[in-house]
Amino acid sequence: MQTSAVQRSTLGLHTLEQYEALIGAAAAERIAAKADRVRTMRVAHISSTFYGGGVTELLTPLTLMMNATGIETDWHLIQGTPGFFGCTKKLHNTLQGTSSEFSEAEKTIYEQVVFENATRLHLDDCDAVIVHDPQPLPLIRHFSDREMPWLWQCHVDLSSPHAAVWNYLRQFVEQYNAAVFSLPEYGQHLRVGQHFITPAIDPFSAKNREMSDRERREFLGNYKIPTDRPLVTQISRFDRWKDPMGVIEAFRKAREQVDCTLVLVGNNASDDPEGGKILEQIESAADEGIIVLSVDDPTLVNALQRSAAVVLQKSTREGFGLTVTEAMWKGAAVIGGNVGGIRHQIKDGWNGFLVNTPDQAAARIVELLKNPNLRKELGARAKESVRQNFLMSRLLEDWLDLLSKYER
Ligand code: UDP
Repeated sequence: MQTSAVQRSTLGLHTLEQYEALIGAAAAERIAAKADRVRTMRVAHISSTFYGGGVTELLTPLTLMMNATGIETDWHLIQGTPGFFGCTKKLHNTLQGTSSEFSEAEKTIYEQVVFENATRLHLDDCDAVIVHDPQPLPLIRHFSDREMPWLWQCHVDLSSPHAAVWNYLRQFVEQYNAAVFSLPEYGQHLRVGQHFITPAIDPFSAKNREMSDRERREFLGNYKIPTDRPLVTQISRFDRWKDPMGVIEAFRKAREQVDCTLVLVGNNASDDPEGGKILEQIESAADEGIIVLSVDDPTLVNALQRSAAVVLQKSTREGFGLTVTEAMWKGAAVIGGNVGGIRHQIKDGWNGFLVNTPDQAAARIVELLKNPNLRKELGARAKESVRQNFLMSRLLEDWLDLLSKYER
């Protein structure tokens, strides 16, 4: 196999030393020294899928890198049924603000499946357990005689959760030693401690690594993506909060002024049952200038983010928005929804644009398509802000700092 094919086919084990060229020797040494202090800890992460979505994108490089720095780090999955993931998707939606009740029957399915998973988890050897998102949250109830700290990390946009559902989940959250949120504004009134850790990307992964123009063009060709007109793209799970219909509306308006092609790419997380329905909606709204691809190919994501004149992430809720970070890292001109984590990454007019409506998005698409210099300027600043704030080495350091507080 060629080297690039090998790179594309591995999980991507990268060491701190590889980050030196990006973050400087002093930062790499500082992080290594912090790793030394917690090296004797054994850490377990628990989530609900290896496939799709931001949590997987974070845990894959983070858990590998923690092991590469000498901290024994495991990653356990909980298993679910379609009924269970239907319930947890509802929890996800209500935490992001949808108004609907979580019925007694749904609570029973949710809690019973988590209990069944708990019977198979043997965590006595761990020094810290980190549970991700609502799916495995109630696990804590079944480890009441634990000696090690348990932390719950919530990755969703918690700016306005549905009150009744949050109150139901809070009874589990408050059994943890602390909760970890992506942004300070997601903090809640809790009887336990709260920490804030912002996500980050792996610059060496298949999705983010450097790519030659030839390889980039080859990849677009493989997927029959035409390059005769400027490309506008959004790459996201097919999810209502990513506002794909708003993207199509904005694109149609923009196209009245500047000819362009829209490419919508999405994959499906195995713990997200709503993707198929949203994909159907998108496909029935698409016309011949709109290409919709349902594939899971990180190199295509890389090639598209590098090739697009405009990258959109027009979310209406967004815990953080790794797709924004990924595109900014490639020096793309990004238009993001003015919500959640996107607001922490894009400073409007400085390293990208923030929009509230499809009309605003359309106007910014036109402006960017007409002005290549503006795209370059925004993109250069975008790349630098990711280098400074959102690389995996920083995420590792944040976790080392947090774990050192709980060292026994
Ligand atoms: N992603 C992907 N292919 C797709 C859609 C998304 O690889 O077709 C990846 C994307 O590159 C990012 C992650 O899935 O790394 C999504 O994370 P984000 O924080 O943007 O959103 P989430 O899915 O967690 O809501």
